[in-house]
Amino acid sequence: MGVTDSKEAALDYIRAVSPDGWHNTEEPLWTAFVNAVPEMLKFVEASSPIIFTPNRDPDPYAEIEGGLPFGRNVSAAPLRSAILGQWRDKIRKPSVSIDLNYEEVFDNHFLSNPKKWALRYGLLLAWRKFRGLKTKGNALVIGLLKGCLDHGVEIWPETSAKELTIVDGKVTGLKIERRGESIDITASGGVILASGGFEWNPEMMAEYFPGPVEWTASPPTNTGDGQRMAEAAGAHLDRMDQALIMGTSPVMYEGLRQGLPAGDYFLPHSMIVNAKGKRFINEKQMNIGLAFDERDPDTGHPLNLPAWRIYDAQYAAKYPHLMPNKSVPDNRFQAATLEDLAAQISVDAEGLVETAARFSEFARVGVDEDFGRGAALWDRARGGDPRHKPNPTLGTIEKPPFTAMPFKASFLGTKGGPRTNENAQVLRPDGTPIDGLYAAGNVMANCFGSKGVGAGTTLGPCLTWGFVAGRHAVR
Ligand SMILES: Cc1cc2nc3c(=O)[nH]c(=O)nc-3n(C[C@H](O)[C@H](O)[C@H](O)COP(=O)(O)OP(=O)(O)OC[C@H]3O[C@@H](n4cnc5c(N)ncnc54)[C@H](O)[C@@H]3O)c2cc1C
Repeated sequence: MGVTDSKEAALDYIRAVSPDGWHNTEEPLWTAFVNAVPEMLKFVEASSPIIFTPNRDPDPYAEIEGGLPFGRNVSAAPLRSAILGQWRDKIRKPSVSIDLNYEEVFDNHFLSNPKKWALRYGLLLAWRKFRGLKTKGNALVIGLLKGCLDHGVEIWPETSAKELTIVDGKVTGLKIERRGESIDITASGGVILASGGFEWNPEMMAEYFPGPVEWTASPPTNTGDGQRMAEAAGAHLDRMDQALIMGTSPVMYEGLRQGLPAGDYFLPHSMIVNAKGKRFINEKQMNIGLAFDERDPDTGHPLNLPAWRIYDAQYAAKYPHLMPNKSVPDNRFQAATLEDLAAQISVDAEGLVETAARFSEFARVGVDEDFGRGAALWDRARGGDPRHKPNPTLGTIEKPPFTAMPFKASFLGTKGGPRTNENAQVLRPDGTPIDGLYAAGNVMANCFGSKGVGAGTTLGPCLTWGFVAGRHAVR
C-alpha cells in the first residue's frame, strides 16, 4: 500500500493515545506486542489457509503522534466453510449474513447508500453464496480452526474447564468436564487460559460495571471462568473495570436478544443524548464506549445512561432501511414534536429542544463546535454519508416526526483478568510468574484497556498474545 511504518512509530502512537500513567506498568507489554505482531501474522498465514488483506482504515487517532492515515489494519480474506468438512457445522453463524468483507462494507458506505452497494456487489455476493465463501470474523475462525485441524490439534467441543491443577505452586494441568464426565488433563508445556471476558456473569458485572447491562454481544458461555481459575491459582487480577463497550442495534441471536455493533448512529440527521437531553460525545469517533462508562465519582453509576438516539424525518426519508426495528419492544418512539418525544422517553424536554437546535446550526455550517464530529480523519474516512454536504456526518434535526431509539451500552467483551508479563505468563501480586500458567485474549488484563487504539480493537491483541503464550509454553 506504499505505507512506511516502524515499530518505533507504532509505539509512539500507543504511548500517545493510552491513558495517563499506564506506561508505568504497560510499556514492556506494548513493546512485546509490537514486536510480536508481524511474527504472529506470518505464523498464522504459514500455518493456516488465512490470508490477511490490508484495508484502508485510518488509526482512530490518526492525527496524534505516530498515527497513520491507513496501513495498520488487516482482515481475513474470504474462505469456504466446506474446507472444514464435518467441522463446518460447529462454526457459529454471523448475526447478519452479508458476505461482504470489511473493506467492501466500509469503503462504499453501504449503510448510507444500499442501492449503490447492491449494484456494485450484487453479483459478487451471489458468487460468494454459490461458492459458500464466508467473510470477516467467520473467515478468520474458519481459517484458524482449519489450521489447528491440519496440524493435529485435538479439539473437544462441549467441554468445560473447571479447575487448574496446582502442584507446589506450579500449574501442571486442568480438570475438565466433558459430556458429564470429569477428566484430569496433564499439561507438559503449560495451560493457556483463553476463555474470554466475564460479561455474562451477573455478579461480576454488578461488581465491576454497576449499572444497566443489556444487549451483550459475545458468547453467553463467557462467564469469567478463566479469571476465577487464575485467581484461585494466586494470580493478580487487574483492569477488571475495562471493557469493549459499543453502541449496537438489537438482534435475536441463538434465542437471546444481543447487540449487533451499529454503524448508523453517526449518519446525518441523528444524534445521541443523555437523560438531560444533552449530547455527551462525538458520536462518530471510535470509542463511544468510554462515554457510556463515565461514572459519577460519588455513586459509581454511569453518567450518560440511559442514552437515546434521536432522528428526524430527513433521516427516515434518506435511510428508511436503518430506522429502528419496530418489532423489538420499547425500541422505537415517535412524536410530532421534540417535547412530546422527550416526554415519552423521560428525557428533559427543554434540554432536547435546545440540543437539536444547536446541533442543527452546527450541521448547516458543517462544524460541530461541541464535540468536533466529522473533523478527524477517522470520522471522515469511514461511514458517514458521502453525498451529504458540507459534513458527511452532520445533518439538521428539525423536521417532524422525530424518532428515538434506546442506545444501550452493549458489552462485546470485558478486558480485565490476570496480569501477565511480556511472555503472556500469569503473574502473582508480587510480579513473579506462576509456572505453567498463561493467559491470552479478553481473559487477561488488557494492556490497552477499554480504549480501542486501532480499528480492530481486540482481535489483533488476542491473536498476538495467544501466539506469544503458545511460543513460550512450547519453548
Ligand atoms: C458482534 C461482535 C463484533 C466484533 N467485531 C470486532 C472487530 O471488528 N474487531 C475486533 O478486533 N474485535 C471485534 N469484536 C471483539 C472480539 O470478537 C473479541 O474481543 C474476541 O473474540 C475475544 O477473543 P477471546 O478469544 O479472548 O474470547 P472469545 O472469542 O469470547 O472466546 C472465549 C471462548 O471461551 C469459551 N469458554 C469460556 N469459559 C470456558 C470454560 N470454562 N471452558 C471452556 N471454554 C470456555 C467460550 O465458550 C468462548 O468460546 C467483536 C465482538 C462482537 C461480539
